[in-house]
Amino acid sequence: MSAGFLYTPIEQLKGLWALRAGLLKTELRIFTFNDLLRFYPFRYVDRTKFYKVKEVNDTLAYVQLRGKIVGTQMLGEKRTLRFVAKFMDETGKLDLVWFQGAKWFSENIHPDMNKEYVVFGKPTEFNGKYNIAHPEIEPVSDENTTLAPALQGVYNSTAKLSARGLDSKGISKTIKSIIALPYYRIDECLSPEIISQFQLMNRAEAIRQIHFPQNMELLKKAEFRLKFEELFFIQLKLLKQKSLRETTTRGYAFSKVGDYFNNFYSNHLPFELTNAQKRVTKEIRIDMGSGKQMNRLLQGDVGSGKTLVALLSMLIAMDNGFQTCLMAPTEILANQHFQTISELVKGQDINVGLLTGSKKTKHRRMIHEQLQSGEMHILVGTHALLEDVVIFKNLGLVVIDEQHRFGVAQRAKMWAKNTQPPHVLIMSATPIPRTLAMTLYGDLDVSTIDEMPPGRKSIQTVHRFDNHRDRVFGFMREQIALGRQIYIVYPLIKESEKMDYKDLMDGYESIARAFPMPQYQVSIVHGQMKPEAKDYEMQRFVKGETHIMVATTVIEVGVNVPNASVMIIESAERFGLSQLHQLRGRVGRGAEQSYCILMSSHKLSADGRLRMDTMVRTNDGFEIAEVDLKLRGPGDLAGTTQSGVLDLSIADLAKDSQILYAARNMAMEVIADDPNLSKPENFPIINHYNQSNPNQTNWSRIS
Ligand code: ADP
Ligand code: MG
Repeated sequence: MSAGFLYTPIEQLKGLWALRAGLLKTELRIFTFNDLLRFYPFRYVDRTKFYKVKEVNDTLAYVQLRGKIVGTQMLGEKRTLRFVAKFMDETGKLDLVWFQGAKWFSENIHPDMNKEYVVFGKPTEFNGKYNIAHPEIEPVSDENTTLAPALQGVYNSTAKLSARGLDSKGISKTIKSIIALPYYRIDECLSPEIISQFQLMNRAEAIRQIHFPQNMELLKKAEFRLKFEELFFIQLKLLKQKSLRETTTRGYAFSKVGDYFNNFYSNHLPFELTNAQKRVTKEIRIDMGSGKQMNRLLQGDVGSGKTLVALLSMLIAMDNGFQTCLMAPTEILANQHFQTISELVKGQDINVGLLTGSKKTKHRRMIHEQLQSGEMHILVGTHALLEDVVIFKNLGLVVIDEQHRFGVAQRAKMWAKNTQPPHVLIMSATPIPRTLAMTLYGDLDVSTIDEMPPGRKSIQTVHRFDNHRDRVFGFMREQIALGRQIYIVYPLIKESEKMDYKDLMDGYESIARAFPMPQYQVSIVHGQMKPEAKDYEMQRFVKGETHIMVATTVIEVGVNVPNASVMIIESAERFGLSQLHQLRGRVGRGAEQSYCILMSSHKLSADGRLRMDTMVRTNDGFEIAEVDLKLRGPGDLAGTTQSGVLDLSIADLAKDSQILYAARNMAMEVIADDPNLSKPENFPIINHYNQSNPNQTNWSRIS
């Protein structure tokens, strides 16, 4: 047995019955020895520490006690049937309680002043007294006292697994039995250079220490090693994908900047570009001119001016004889981009079209024709652009706004719209922490707009409780009197949820009562409206015909109404941070001072409180994203759901940024030095890579 050892199916482990093996698969998705060895403890308990009964309180996650059983009792009946053992040490008494297995315990545990037990479990308070439900209990022995491992791993388990003996302890035993196998073997997967450069613990040792640490110091070293390894191989894979794309996919070389760009830049630019806009435009221009296909993420906080950068990039494509398109995730956004761009290029002999699902067949046919003849320069639209009937004469650049709403498959569809894949620019207004970007978009190049256009007043954010609504209404009247417009957003987590919908309608009615016609005009937009109706209401607001826009999160992304200066978010505690930030970004787009009012009930969880405080404290999207990452973990952040790369078993993108940077740099160095990973010292790396990515193109095939 060699490296194949790790990929042994778990049912081949003697003593692990088929039933348990089956449960490990269905409950924890553990199929092989490798999966089980990589199923790390989520915390450790110190089993050398013994508490006294009088020290017990329910803030302790667990306690370990040493004492005697002084009385036992069966209580209750049927469902409430339980076995209670009175446990005592020299400082006091508490109850040990078993609901499950009550009968078995009653037959095996008896009052006995000559027998000492070690008891371990989570204390809870009941009727003013402490008890421990379902504790681990064992007679005192050298094993559990003097020889107890300092740190014992605690594993996640499930009710079904626990019922079959695979609770945390059972899992630990199972792992121990793998490590004890005579043919147990863990190969090193990093090169000697990397190991010595970072002074890493070797792999076999790290796996043993992570499950059965001898002390804190060795545990830390093991953690570091395994985190590094995990992040290194993710980065290696991403960088490989990138280099694969770069070596196999040619791109159109946009060699010149011509009249479209120059005329716009000299005569029609509505304002001086910020330095950040200039810098990223240059990055994009160089990339599109390189002969390689561009795959670039354009990151920038809401309002940082990405649209203009996108347009400049499109003009460069046109100067080189290519058509371009811009794809947006919603109809409202597509409309708005269409209008913005049409306005910007007015009088410049540039043909801009709009294609969305709600357009009539006749309009579509006209668009299709103009695309194929090449008359159409810029096409703006929604998913409708992906359809096979949408054929370009010569598509050279695809801009995708708010990438997280589009899947990889959809991106691939756009690639196929020309003989060589067009350049791709993905715009994201969801600031994400650098660590996440590196992992999520590690195979893309990234341009970041880190500067806001000048003269923006920063938005003032306050948090108000529901009972202050009258004062908030008063403030709204003042703002309307000053000529401003107001958004009020309701959470509609799922458009289908009746309760949410009712909240919205109730809210709308109370607003309509407090702001009666004809003095006030109130519009409403939500996901259950027909696109035309939505568009009509939106347009009324854009034109300033209505004062208040009551809406759901459909207005979250990208909508631009500079005269709107107040954003009121109802039940703000129900929104995530990045969504709150997106919503707030709808105001602060004009010259006036803008406000964001977060309304919430008095009942706030600790997380909810932190989210409100963070919003009040800062306007910086990247800072907010960091807090969001810490609160929710990467899996729940916007745009990360479909990404398997975030399936980390030990590294934590919120905490391990330094390790990530080191691992990424190392991966780059390795690839730069040995692109095919063919040097002998890199054998461990290539072996591990090919084994853990069996369905991928083998590394060796990319050169
Ligand atoms: P986002 O990055 O959120 O897509 P937009 O492209 O919608 O931002 O730009 C936000 C607003 O800022 C728009 O009204 C736009 O006209 C304006 N804007 C963009 N660039 C500049 C600039 N360099 N100077 C002043 N205003 C700008
Ligand atoms: Mg935008």
